[in-house]
Amino acid sequence: MEDIRMTATKAPYAKLKQELDAAFSAVMESMHLEEGPHVQHFAQSLKTYLQVPRVVPCVNGKEALRLALSVLQLPAGAEVVVPAFGDASVVEVLLQSELKPAFADVDAATFTLTASSVEKVVSPHTAAIIASHLFGQPASMHELMQLARQHNVWLIEDATQALGAALKGLDDVLLKAGAMGHIGLTSLFPIKPMLSSGEGGAVLVNDKELITQLEGRNDGQHMYGFTESQYKLGTLDAAMLDVKLKYMKAFNEEKEKVARYYDTAFADTELVHTPYRASYSSHVYHQYSLKVVPETRDGLQEYLRDNFIPSVVYYPEPLHLLTSFTHYSYKAGDFPVSEELCKSVLSLPMHTELKQDQLEYICHHVLTYLNRHS
Ligand SMILES: *Cc1c(COP(=O)(O)O)cnc(C)c1O
Repeated sequence: MEDIRMTATKAPYAKLKQELDAAFSAVMESMHLEEGPHVQHFAQSLKTYLQVPRVVPCVNGKEALRLALSVLQLPAGAEVVVPAFGDASVVEVLLQSELKPAFADVDAATFTLTASSVEKVVSPHTAAIIASHLFGQPASMHELMQLARQHNVWLIEDATQALGAALKGLDDVLLKAGAMGHIGLTSLFPIKPMLSSGEGGAVLVNDKELITQLEGRNDGQHMYGFTESQYKLGTLDAAMLDVKLKYMKAFNEEKEKVARYYDTAFADTELVHTPYRASYSSHVYHQYSLKVVPETRDGLQEYLRDNFIPSVVYYPEPLHLLTSFTHYSYKAGDFPVSEELCKSVLSLPMHTELKQDQLEYICHHVLTYLNRHS
């Protein structure tokens, strides 16, 4: 059996090698390394793929969020609702932008914000909500959008971890993740769903008024830094992403097969909760994240490690309890679901190259440990 890896990068490159090498050569031969027609081409492809009216590439996900926030022109000190379970970089950007993170709990099944969890923390100071899709499962954008409208706040959709997923919009029309918030973003960092080669990101603008505002300022001076930022996505990275985008669907279908394998292997046990598939969206399995009894999680991870099976606890601390936010007077118990998820979620290897014997081996070891320790 080959060594088991958490993600695979070499094989997806090898599969597309010819096409990627041709794209890289085209960039190098054109020597358009700065004013990137290749970057523009990728932006256009992403726009078409996501069906988002305006896509602005930039250097990474954090910068995309910073730009999105600057477009919204939120007053300094305004509150922005963010999930207590997830990526800390979102909160870092808020603090750098002089905005106040207002944490909300997540749903125990989807691991994302819901209208009812946000409702509990919305205040007259709330200016925006950041809904982050997690592990490949989108948040319920339709419901969150209704809430955002009701409270007259902006909804920012962080589509990073569910790029390529489909979501039901108004009248059940299917839209791509990233196409539903007023404004959104995606990171294109190597470990994110597109497995790119370097840093990258994009702002996704959906709201008509915001687009008009942006275009009105298209005088090369304002644009909130957009004009300069878009060329900071590397030209070679853009060329790579442009090729990869064409294979996103096939790539996600391969991962779906792996997910089905795991789902079936764990279907008959109460000891494991497999990832929830919401009826309003597809799941793109950026990660395959199990929930187990908290008392067994760390032991399981150690047992897997001893058997050469990698696994990752992505978010071991709920964001409201990070020491950097202690001055906000959040305390343990404020967001019980997020706190519990930090202790009970474990992500298993998930990529397109997992072989049947490896999957059998992984599932066998997960079940062996849990059966012994429950
Ligand atoms: C990684 C990540 C980011 C930050 O993206 P960078 O490109 O690393 O700056 C933002 N949001 C989510 C959900 C992420 O997973």
